Amino acid sequence: MSGEPVQESLKTLQDLQAVFNDRAALASMDAGSEVYRVRWWAPVQPGTEGGLFWGVTVLQPGKVGDEYFMTHGHFHANRTRAEFYGTVSGNGVLVQMSADRRTWGETMTPGSLHYVRGENAHRLVNTGDLPLVVWACWPSDAGYDYSTIAERGFAARLVEHDGKPVLLEGE
Ligand code: MN
Repeated sequence: MSGEPVQESLKTLQDLQAVFNDRAALASMDAGSEVYRVRWWAPVQPGTEGGLFWGVTVLQPGKVGDEYFMTHGHFHANRTRAEFYGTVSGNGVLVQMSADRRTWGETMTPGSLHYVRGENAHRLVNTGDLPLVVWACWPSDAGYDYSTIAERGFAARLVEHDGKPVLLEGE
């Protein structure tokens, strides 16, 4: 994606310190390493009713300790606004969490399509060896609620166990 009005956000390990569990492993890594970048096309102003935004997330492969690289994750400020995710390439898991903190993962493979209900928090996790590339489409008035996740996180973590991704309940 390129050209106006495409915007880009880049997140490094430094930006994501609070989301990973293994602080010792994190401290041994390069804080400037890119974890993910999002480019999104906003043809209307955020908050506009009836519009749509389109985004592409590129999430790098990697782990902090046994925990896979992931995005911050968020709820939508407007809990009635849903979102589509479509996997372009790579392998991962879309972790979702309901308002009552029930948490589950959907396997992402090239071509898989995922529907996120408006009331669910959502986070991408790269469980593969290649960048996970994901398309997303969401309403222009969905907004973001990052603070709920920043305060309490998700109720489960996706870790590698015996070479396979496992969703560990906790918190
Ligand atoms: Mn969203």
